[in-house]
Amino acid sequence: MGVIKQLPQNVANQISAGEVIERPASIVKELIENSIDAGAKNIEIRIEDGGRELIKVKDDGHGILADDIESAFNRYATSKIEDIDDLYSLYSLGFRGEALASIVSVAEIEMISRHQDSDQAVKIKLKGGEIIDKKPVGSTIGTEITVRDLFYNTPARYKYLKTTTTEFSHISKIVSAEATANSDLSFKLFHDSRQILSTPGNGKLKDTIYAVFGGDIAENLIPIDIEDRYIKLSGYLCRPELTRSSRSHELFFVNGRPIYNNLTAKAVETAYSKLIDPGRKPIVFLFIKVNPILVDVNVHPAKKEVKFSRSQIIFDVIKKAVRNTLKENDPTTRIKIKKDHSLEADRDQTEENIERDQLFNQNKKSSYNSAKQNNYSKTGSYKQSKGNYQKNINYEDDKSYNPDLKSSENKKDFRQLIRENENQEYSLENVEAEESYFKFLGQIFNSYLLIETDQGLKIVDQHNAQERILYERFYAEYNKKDKASQSLLMPVKIELSAEEREIVHQYEAEIKKIGIDFSDFGNNTILIQEVPVLLKNMSTRNIIEELIAELAEAGKAKSAAEVQTNMLEYLACRSSIKAGQPLTKNESIQLIKDLYKTENPYRCPHSRPVMINISREEIEKGLGRK
Ligand code: ADP
Ligand code: MG
Repeated sequence: MGVIKQLPQNVANQISAGEVIERPASIVKELIENSIDAGAKNIEIRIEDGGRELIKVKDDGHGILADDIESAFNRYATSKIEDIDDLYSLYSLGFRGEALASIVSVAEIEMISRHQDSDQAVKIKLKGGEIIDKKPVGSTIGTEITVRDLFYNTPARYKYLKTTTTEFSHISKIVSAEATANSDLSFKLFHDSRQILSTPGNGKLKDTIYAVFGGDIAENLIPIDIEDRYIKLSGYLCRPELTRSSRSHELFFVNGRPIYNNLTAKAVETAYSKLIDPGRKPIVFLFIKVNPILVDVNVHPAKKEVKFSRSQIIFDVIKKAVRNTLKENDPTTRIKIKKDHSLEADRDQTEENIERDQLFNQNKKSSYNSAKQNNYSKTGSYKQSKGNYQKNINYEDDKSYNPDLKSSENKKDFRQLIRENENQEYSLENVEAEESYFKFLGQIFNSYLLIETDQGLKIVDQHNAQERILYERFYAEYNKKDKASQSLLMPVKIELSAEEREIVHQYEAEIKKIGIDFSDFGNNTILIQEVPVLLKNMSTRNIIEELIAELAEAGKAKSAAEVQTNMLEYLACRSSIKAGQPLTKNESIQLIKDLYKTENPYRCPHSRPVMINISREEIEKGLGRK
């Protein structure tokens, strides 16, 4: 007798469930997609214990006819396709007729559904793939599916479930993506009765992003809308000053469906690469519309991943579109001059700008003084504008004009400043930056450097500039295979609170990874034995204390990369020249040259602007020449 046997249907379904249902989040995804396909306007998702205990999805879609309710749980039972060609042209979300059959083979299911043409609902209960109860009940139009005791009959799979927090975070990621993909639908998500998310369903993507991802992100969005021969892109990019340490906030939707695709992520990251720190990831919500012929969403059993058939074209179009959109939103903070000679930043008056303004005003007197004190040698001749530079050429509004000086003095100092420095041009090798040369004009307020480039007149913040340069040097040093660490002659003893000790314990691996070695000394005391060479001139105690404070503040899990980034930011900041420090001409020029060699000359590691730009056009407009 042969040994090959046909597997029982339920076992076969369990095997295929393994492909569709990895974890509670996969069930949530399938159920939501069914609700969307059913034309629901409101979808409510309730989760208990990360989905292990209970997953309930309730919608107000068209519902299921009483006659169809049993067959919905059969394998390859679907109301959505009839033949294989449909698979390729379909816009609908679920189309394999596998989800319910798979779920029912690994969990207990209860479904209540009332079809829109029916005045009664049917309630059906299944366990182990068998119907255990079915009866008519009263209910509103729509469908409610409850999944309990996930993986009760497949202990091996149950064992692979992670903590409640992790499983729920997968669920909330799925719901966030689905809610963003469908801003015309209202989503509500509850975990153990707490409301986690609620979207308005008003069809406005920005409002949905606000509801799901918060105001910080929603207020920093740049719309993207580009149509090419092959694809249409729309949605939002986030300004490069906001980033994440992982791809968690890179959301892609292909033909309305949230997907993961390495190619699209890479294209976007390449476009952002010069604007954000190495190791950081951009935030994007990108809707890609392509002819369904060019994508195959069925490469992944859970339809998470898509494959593009013209991948190089797709990559290039996305990269270019994102890059151009970002370029239009100049990475340099732009300053606009109004005809009435008042200046306004093209961003809202953020705290940062207010701070900056205060600094300008505080320093207005010393600006003229320092210009006077500077001893520039007389070389070169003055070519461009002929005497039209009066008080406002000082890049400030009338308020900043120093009334203590006679206007002739103001004029003289400035003329001198420009004339005497205007001769020497330095070419910039950093082709990715928008500038190809710079001409150093001078230092103002002992804090800012003025340069001319082909983009216009730039005011460079010397502290932020050096922070950027040092950050990248530190970053490079840290990423060397063998980090240079140095043993301390005298180990440093640091007493910690119980909470701090706990934090050090939790991040022990990360702290050691950045080259700080320590051991326990009992009684919540640690002994620092080794620090990275880069830190050798700094107070070990301060560094450790700040690091712990940093980690404690973040509270939740920080990745090794984030810990490292924080450390490097801290180091770069502590080692940089401060505002208020006079620099020689050579020092200034060197600083600017070094700045343009960095990956991102426009932002300091804390994402503050390094420079502001006033275009020639703005200057001429302001002076009434245009
Ligand atoms: P598929 O979605 O691939 O068709 P499923 O197993 O997910 O397969 O669902 C089987 C069928 O059950 C669907 O084709 C649909 O007719 C019906 N169905 C499932 N969920 C719902 C729902 N929330 N509202 C209305 N019909 C549903
Ligand atoms: Mg489905």
